[in-house]
Amino acid sequence: MKNKIIEYENLHNVNKSFSKEFQFKFKDVLESGWFILGSQVDEFEKEFASYNNIKYCCGVASGLDALILALKALQLNPGSEVIVPSNTYIATILSIIRNGLTPILVEPDIKTYNIDPARIEEKITLKTSAIIVVHLYGKVCDMDPITNICKHYSLKLVEDCAQAHGAKYKGKFAGTFGDFGAFSFYPTKNLGALGDGGALITNNEFLDRKIRMLRNYGSNKKYYNEIVGYNSRLDEIQAAFLNVKLKYLNEINAHKRELAKLYQQELKNEFIKPELDDNYYDVYHIFNIRHTKRNIIKEYLLENNIKTEIHYPVPPNKQLAMKGVIDHYSCPVSDEIHDTTLSLPISFSHTTDDIMRVIDVINKFR
Ligand SMILES: *Cc1c(COP(=O)(O)O)cnc(C)c1O
Repeated sequence: MKNKIIEYENLHNVNKSFSKEFQFKFKDVLESGWFILGSQVDEFEKEFASYNNIKYCCGVASGLDALILALKALQLNPGSEVIVPSNTYIATILSIIRNGLTPILVEPDIKTYNIDPARIEEKITLKTSAIIVVHLYGKVCDMDPITNICKHYSLKLVEDCAQAHGAKYKGKFAGTFGDFGAFSFYPTKNLGALGDGGALITNNEFLDRKIRMLRNYGSNKKYYNEIVGYNSRLDEIQAAFLNVKLKYLNEINAHKRELAKLYQQELKNEFIKPELDDNYYDVYHIFNIRHTKRNIIKEYLLENNIKTEIHYPVPPNKQLAMKGVIDHYSCPVSDEIHDTTLSLPISFSHTTDDIMRVIDVINKFR
């Protein structure tokens, strides 16, 4: 028992309970002979929009594509500036660069790890056209001040919800505060497919129509191309699997929240835990702790057969690919998070016993 390996995440185990339903769906799609933009994608788009209490959802090929197409559809001035958190996965920043726009980094709040609303206004210039917020680890950003800033300065707002399916702020779903909510269905996400996938949600009919064209060669009618588009469609087979899993998203999130509650209650306070606040419904895509001896704790846990991850070891502004782009930024708060954060096991297939063992071992760290 003591030596059973506790993995960080095992995608076979995570999907095991859905396997029968997946097989039925696979058979349906195979027998339909329709593999691109069919009834499964239609159904998923309707159901995911309805889940989020929003009018429109359009499936695309990945989370990165969702972000790229969102900025494209907003038709921002070429070369204009887009405000983005310094503490994010690189995809968010790539979407800005891929649109020929300039990323302007804003430091996070050390308590929430999300963009610090108090530090946004000082970065706004005449060239600022939009803000992309990232609801990191499954906690929605502090949206009231952010939406106020967007209104006051007439800025577009895109939400990177790749880690926040079903997360809420003051009862409102992640992805429903601005012009677009961008989702990824990468297999490890709370709503994960069996391959790549993504989606954009919006209340704006014009923007939804634009995305539908952009994802499909600029066309809404076969062989008639209105705009210069892409090929970035959500696969029919992935949509079929997502239709199975969406029905269990609340259960997946509730399970992760139950495991998070154990960590919150039982882990010693020496390990800095995520903030709790009644205004937020966090879905814990990641449960992190922070500690100055992070690397030693990671090794110690591994010796005790407990695997962990670091999200993320290198911040975007220090990535090789970002040389000459955003490497002139100094981001001490983001650095502090990257140097001290450690992600603990918290998947749908982990049991409360697994988590109690992790807690027991961590609490014995000296
Ligand atoms: C996973 C992720 C993405 C990218 O999603 P893909 O589907 O892998 O392209 C973007 N932003 C954040 C914050 C993510 O965690």
